[in-house]
Amino acid sequence: KVRTRIAPSPTGFLHLGTARTALYSWAYARHYGGEFVLRIEDTDVARSTQDSTDQILASMHWLGLEYDEGPIYQMQRLERYREVIAQMLAAGTAYYCYCTPAELEEMREAQRARGEKTLYDRRWRPEPGKVLPPVPEGVPPVVRFCNPPEGDVTWNDLVKGEITINNREIDDLIILRPDGVPTYNFAVVVDDWDMNITHVFRGDEHINNTPWQINIFRALAAPLPEFGHVPVILGDDGQKLSKRRGAVSVTAYEDNGYLPEAMLNYLARLGWSHGDDELFTREQMVSWFDGSHLSKSPAQWDAAKLAWVNAQYIKAKSGDELAPLVAAQLHKRGIVADERLPAICALFKDRCETTVALADWAAAFYADITVTEADRAQHITDAVKPAIATLAEKMMTVAWDKASIAVMIKEVLATHALKMPVLAMPVRVLVMGTPQTPSLDSVLEIFSREKVVERLRKA
Ligand code: GLU
Repeated sequence: KVRTRIAPSPTGFLHLGTARTALYSWAYARHYGGEFVLRIEDTDVARSTQDSTDQILASMHWLGLEYDEGPIYQMQRLERYREVIAQMLAAGTAYYCYCTPAELEEMREAQRARGEKTLYDRRWRPEPGKVLPPVPEGVPPVVRFCNPPEGDVTWNDLVKGEITINNREIDDLIILRPDGVPTYNFAVVVDDWDMNITHVFRGDEHINNTPWQINIFRALAAPLPEFGHVPVILGDDGQKLSKRRGAVSVTAYEDNGYLPEAMLNYLARLGWSHGDDELFTREQMVSWFDGSHLSKSPAQWDAAKLAWVNAQYIKAKSGDELAPLVAAQLHKRGIVADERLPAICALFKDRCETTVALADWAAAFYADITVTEADRAQHITDAVKPAIATLAEKMMTVAWDKASIAVMIKEVLATHALKMPVLAMPVRVLVMGTPQTPSLDSVLEIFSREKVVERLRKA
């Protein structure tokens, strides 16, 4: 049975790259009727926080990437890692190393001076006929893995194809720190083994870790999963997407008014394709995502395209569906919406890329607006002020529905011999704070009569 996992480290928010890997892992498991596991890799105790874990779980939930098992915390599995370490020490596939940091630095210094790659020289590795140094007093040992000194490690990467790395390139990895906490490359193997993970998708920054992991799997006689290393996401500037270059956390996009469906759709396409399809549902993605058509080269983050995708999803939703999302955005501004919000959303959704933009429009109905001096000067001319006054007057008594409002506006235009835009623009500016709005009758209808009259009288 296919089992995949996502294994974020809780040292920050859920990064977009990790979210995409999670999506691929999730979709792959769903496609093959398998299971998807969430593991929190919290062994970096100094940098891991509960807050990050909470944020990651919230983002997974928001994206709708439901997992079948987890969250499993590595720090709750220390006993298990130590048990495996003990077995490896007994089997001779791991050993204690008593090198001090100063000694290691000296070793590297000498290697650099000789123009060699800096690798641990295996001085504590037990070998037939070799005399080990005397165990020093008071140096807490680390445990190192006996990596095969020679030979190639080759795997057929699900994304990148065949990859080969020679064991001479890598040294005897530290698998247990002096404080008894295992290192990433070891814990990840024990976990993937214990959790029966069959397919590992992760960022390609881990390619150099994979040979160690494969060697440890082999030393443990554990079944090897398949690996798929997904390329990085690049920012507009061609550099790796990073915090310094804009929003990289899933949370930021949630805050900025993106819909989870749109995020998933966009993230899916960033490194994977299904023909020319740009818009598809989760269900379609699951039915298509069989591990093929994953891109080998880095994907470029395209904020404008994401905004376009989001706009398509907003457009496809009803006012009723959008209202709670927009209400949440308004709430952050201290605005309490009411039963008019679905109608407002329905009226403005086609011109909005995000729910934040929708909230900007909706705010005009619930909070004071500002009319810029430029708009005032351009639109609210002395020539049109009498017509605005007539309009405000007539509004006091007209039936307050779209059709009646439309007829009333026509009457006022006729009385003052004006063309529609000449009157409509200033009314929009006065009522909404901008001349670019949907048709005046449909906007006015949503307002209370008193509110519109009050704003018009400010002319
Ligand atoms: N904790 C690792 C990371 O966040 C997981 C890598 C892996 O999936 O093996 O990069």
